[in-house]
Amino acid sequence: MPDAPPKSRTTLQALWETRAGRALRAVGLDSVRTTILALAVLASLIPALATGWISYRQNRRAIQDKLTEQLSGLSAQAAREMDLWLKEGLYNLRVFSTSDVVTENIARGPQVRGRLPDYLRSVRERFADYDELLVVARDGRTVASSERVSARLHFAGDWLEPARAGRPVLGDAFPVDGAGGMAMEVAVPIVGASGRFDGAFVARMNFRAATGLLKGLVAGRPGRLLVLTPDGRVVATTSVAFVAMPQPAVRRLQQAEGAPVSFDDPNGTGMVGALAPIRATGWGAVADMPQATAFAQIRGLRNATLLLGLVLLAIVGSLAYALGLLIVRPLERLSGAARRVADGDLEVEVPILGSGELSQLTRMFNDMVRLLREGRAELEHLSVTDPLTGLANRRRLMAELEHEVRRSDRLGRRFSLAILDIDHFKAFNDSYGHPAGDELLKCLAKVLQDLVRDVDTAARYGGEEFLVILTEARVGEAERAAERMRVRLSEERFAAPGGAAPVGVTVSIGLAEFPADGTSPEALIAAADKALYRAKEAGRNRVIVASTGGTGREAGGKSS
Ligand code: GH3
Ligand code: MG
Ligand code: MG
Repeated sequence: MPDAPPKSRTTLQALWETRAGRALRAVGLDSVRTTILALAVLASLIPALATGWISYRQNRRAIQDKLTEQLSGLSAQAAREMDLWLKEGLYNLRVFSTSDVVTENIARGPQVRGRLPDYLRSVRERFADYDELLVVARDGRTVASSERVSARLHFAGDWLEPARAGRPVLGDAFPVDGAGGMAMEVAVPIVGASGRFDGAFVARMNFRAATGLLKGLVAGRPGRLLVLTPDGRVVATTSVAFVAMPQPAVRRLQQAEGAPVSFDDPNGTGMVGALAPIRATGWGAVADMPQATAFAQIRGLRNATLLLGLVLLAIVGSLAYALGLLIVRPLERLSGAARRVADGDLEVEVPILGSGELSQLTRMFNDMVRLLREGRAELEHLSVTDPLTGLANRRRLMAELEHEVRRSDRLGRRFSLAILDIDHFKAFNDSYGHPAGDELLKCLAKVLQDLVRDVDTAARYGGEEFLVILTEARVGEAERAAERMRVRLSEERFAAPGGAAPVGVTVSIGLAEFPADGTSPEALIAAADKALYRAKEAGRNRVIVASTGGTGREAGGKSS
């Protein structure tokens, strides 16, 4: 079978269309408008959102990198500064501890210690980092202090042990003034002239200068700096807010090894920060800032991306909707017009707006309807027209007569009806042939049509009989009109075939009046017909009125 493949392809296509149509209907996309809308939105939003998402990711990465650099860099810098600050403090202590005043007086014993406190006081007054300077003996007893009342030392256990080995001693940090201030004690060995360990030069250092250094580092940058002990106590900070950082946060910061991590500070604020170790003390320098600040740029970026998406959606959506309307409106107009045509109304004309396929379709639709309209008018005309003479046919005549009867009855008016019959027409046919008879009928019809008024209806009733409805004409007036017709027709000359001389014919006319001679079309026709019969009886070529019953006039007194 040669046409099997196309057939199966058609079946497949139909199947696909049915399935796809069902699927689209299920998601509400079964109208052109919604399909266009969905298509436009998808086609523009998918690439736009993909691009937006990629650029958002890239920007976020860049911002995060910047943040890492900022926080890690700042904390490392702070750790370095703190290390330097401590080193410098220790270096100074070593210088003081080797002063002759110290080494000589500690060796001499208690009797000469009077000069030592003066020395300590003078040093402390020159260096703001020291809250108190002390000299302790080999056994740990305080020998002299810069202060009148010496504070108890915070060193624990055999704290002089490193000093005996020639190393500095770094104590733990402790609170001092009850307002969050911290201090620490450091000590360096005092070595006698013979290299003997004589005791330690101790300083209680505050963090005021260190804090000043940290403040200098963060100045003009977002965020803050903290110095934390391994258990979370705040040694120094650029913005005092709490005394200790919770353990989980400290652990996270330590484990991240300098990379930024998120944590909650004791105030419950979500923070992001990085920790750099301060080697000398085992503390950590933390640079942090609220997450809200850190991610504000990222959030702004995300919001801008979303906003862009929404704006795009709105613009594309409205454009697609407008375009959809542009397509759907003509379709709706067309389907509305098609419905009217289907209901039998051919008087539709769809406006053609713009150009393109739909306008072309609309134009073709209009042409189609116009052809239908013309065809129907032609049919209607044919159905009520006599094909030979072009006069109204019997069907039209009956309708008109019906109408005239109803109208005159309603208005209480009269009208007349005339029946014309050609005299001896059979003889004419016999003499000149049927076609010549047809020609005569045509010519006579034309003359008759010219004779009647516009308001009258002339019709071919059948054969060579004609009927005229004389609207609003009483029988007297109708009789005069009929007489004019009879005379005029008898004067007419009709062409005869075969070179014969033109011939004339006469007509006999029967007249009836509504309502006197009949109140229905049939009764009126019968009355007029009866009058016509009488006209024929009376010798033809005359007008007879039904109600008068009298003999009509005969033109010139002759009959043919
Ligand atoms: P009269 O009316 O005077 O009594 O005589 P008539 O010869 O006219 O008689 P009748 O009216 O009975 O005859 C009608 C004739 O008209 C018969 C037929 O030959 C002719 N006729 C009817 N219809 C047509 C037509 O359509 N064409 C032609 N050529 N002749 C027709
Ligand atoms: Mg006849
Ligand atoms: Mg006749």
